[in-house]
Amino acid sequence: MQSWRDNLRRVTPYVPGEQPDKKKVIKLNANENPYPPAPAVMKAREKIRHLRRYPDPTASSLVRAIAGYHGLKESQVFVGVGSDDVLALSFLTFFNSDKAICFPDITYSFYDVWADLFRIPYEQKALDERFHIRVEDYYPENGGVIFPNPNAPTGILMPLSRIRDLLDHNRDVVVIIDEAYIDFGGTSALPLIDEYDNLLIVRTFSKSRSMAGVRIGYALGSEDLIRGLNDVKGSFNSYTMNQPSLVLGEASLKEESYFRDTLRKIIETREWLKEELLRLGFCFPDSKANFVFASHSRVPARDIFEAARKKDIYVRYFDRPRIDQYLRITVGTREEMELFVDFLEDYLFNINTGKF
Ligand SMILES: *Cc1c(COP(=O)(O)O)cnc(C)c1O
Repeated sequence: MQSWRDNLRRVTPYVPGEQPDKKKVIKLNANENPYPPAPAVMKAREKIRHLRRYPDPTASSLVRAIAGYHGLKESQVFVGVGSDDVLALSFLTFFNSDKAICFPDITYSFYDVWADLFRIPYEQKALDERFHIRVEDYYPENGGVIFPNPNAPTGILMPLSRIRDLLDHNRDVVVIIDEAYIDFGGTSALPLIDEYDNLLIVRTFSKSRSMAGVRIGYALGSEDLIRGLNDVKGSFNSYTMNQPSLVLGEASLKEESYFRDTLRKIIETREWLKEELLRLGFCFPDSKANFVFASHSRVPARDIFEAARKKDIYVRYFDRPRIDQYLRITVGTREEMELFVDFLEDYLFNINTGKF
């Protein structure tokens, strides 16, 4: 007996951070930006019109704005519905070899989901004991490489010298660097796209530009890579970018000083949080992102996660091998982080005296 069920594409979907519908929570579980988008974005809402019509399928106004912002040609920019859309299309476009693509064992947990969905063979390369990527693992022949820089959920930044080394050993495959968190103090590999026509840089408006709800992501690379992406996108869905997000995205790029100010505040709060976490007995790799990946010397991460949740403080906990003693804590406003640290102080003090 045949059933349609035998031919179902079976997938295990990615699970995003919880979005509680209660109002008064401290939400440090999805690496969202605690500050609102630039005032220019809120103002540009008045310019949203023509909703009756299809949007520009080439998203040319936003492509032009992004190209101008980075000093690139428009033909070097591809935009999509959040970087998840850009990344998924990149997997479909560039990872078509019989050889396995490579990415770290501890990384953005969407990569293995897309590889499974598109039936792309993959190998996960173990991070070293300090959670650093071992570049030598990526030397052998493969079907492509992808990793975030800084890596998620560790926050560890790979220096340009090692990225160059990885690229020099991978000239015949596409290397994708997911720079979702690069604005929080990292050095971008963007200048290398002139030298390496197989390097694709993927960015998002969700984290550093406070626009997760708008869904804008983009890729930067050689004209050939971008043409490849546009051809696949045009074979899948002509109108990925809606008219409001084209307008709002362009507005965000015009307010550089607000953007820089927001980043500075988050970086300052992150560095303050690191000191407080050390004082409370946590250890963590040095993060260059808008989150800290921390483990307590005595108290199980799951217990802290659950106790925080009861107090309406949401952080991210991954029940996976090697990282189940860690919490990924998004850097919110200074006030939010002070409340979180107060909670930790109370909680850790009370379990010491057995009262919690
Ligand atoms: C958040 C995140 C993304 C996806 O962001 P979008 O909201 O889809 O733009 C991609 N990669 C990494 C590593 C992320 O953390």
